[in-house]
Amino acid sequence: MINLISDTVTKPTPGMLEAMFAAEVGDDVFREDPTVNTLEAKAAALFGHEAGLFCPSGTMTNQIALKVHTRPLDEVICDEMSHIFQYEVGGYAFHSGIGVNLIHGENGIVRPEQVAAAVKPRYDWLPISRLVVLENTCNKGGGSFYDLDTIRAVRDVCREKEMALHLDGARIFNALVETGNAPSEIGPLFDSISICLSKGLGAPVGSLLLGSKTFIAEARRVRKAMGGGMRQAGYLAAAGIYALDHQVERLREDHAHARALAQALESLSWVAGIRPVMTNIVIFDLVKPLDAASMLAYLAANGVKASAFGPHTIRLVTHLDVNTDMIEKAISVLQKYPH
Ligand SMILES: *Cc1c(COP(=O)(O)O)cnc(C)c1O
Repeated sequence: MINLISDTVTKPTPGMLEAMFAAEVGDDVFREDPTVNTLEAKAAALFGHEAGLFCPSGTMTNQIALKVHTRPLDEVICDEMSHIFQYEVGGYAFHSGIGVNLIHGENGIVRPEQVAAAVKPRYDWLPISRLVVLENTCNKGGGSFYDLDTIRAVRDVCREKEMALHLDGARIFNALVETGNAPSEIGPLFDSISICLSKGLGAPVGSLLLGSKTFIAEARRVRKAMGGGMRQAGYLAAAGIYALDHQVERLREDHAHARALAQALESLSWVAGIRPVMTNIVIFDLVKPLDAASMLAYLAANGVKASAFGPHTIRLVTHLDVNTDMIEKAISVLQKYPH
């Protein structure tokens, strides 16, 4: 099977497994797991933040950030395609008692003027616009990313309006290898950052939340309240350290593979359109009445797994466990689709 469902499906490489087996561990709820402590400090230093917190998932790191930055009756400003709005079960309302103020950006990317225009005046009858979340790269936006100047301008709006700025950086390294920016350039523009180790970086489990010491101290309490305090988590943290050390630069291969898929799709008569392919995600529409379900069935019958992103829309994601041969095979399966 060539699994293009998501970059979450990767299994640890032999080198990563070795690092996991060799990990020194302790009880992280007592902060006695040296490997977790190392990972948290390493990631924080990389992005120019004071402290880090290792969590089971990116949903948890985002939800903790929302909780710590806001109070009930506040709102978070984000693009309509945001993961925190679309795919986290409405957790913003459940955990934090806040609302969302949605921006209609372009492929998940918002402009600073849109953020400024969305901020609500402070009246007793309005929610307080307390937090802005940028998603970089944006999943539903097809792996789109921000340039640094846009982020700086959004940061300026946040400062002026006394709002915090959180980065949903589930795939931040996919953005960084494309823009050529260093983590230390982008990191300080945000009050908090969520990073997934379990996507393109290839770790089996885990996400990181970064921020100031006081922010992370509070985040640690919220993580425990959510049931996310893990014990000998160093075995998982070791995978994260290995990923940061060895599996960042190779994201470029995933991007080349995604471009190859998109290029092949462009010449197929039954493809109605392809979102701009900027990193490792390819989202395309089928000419109606072709539907996603029968397309997925055809692909699966021919050894390719993909996912539906709408009734006539398909998403393909490239990752560590698909090599160039597999991409070529997937392309030939697509080209043979009997439409
Ligand atoms: C995957 C993802 C997350 C977190 O997902 P988990 O599956 O909970 O780790 C958050 N934001 C974005 C943009 C994502 O793609």
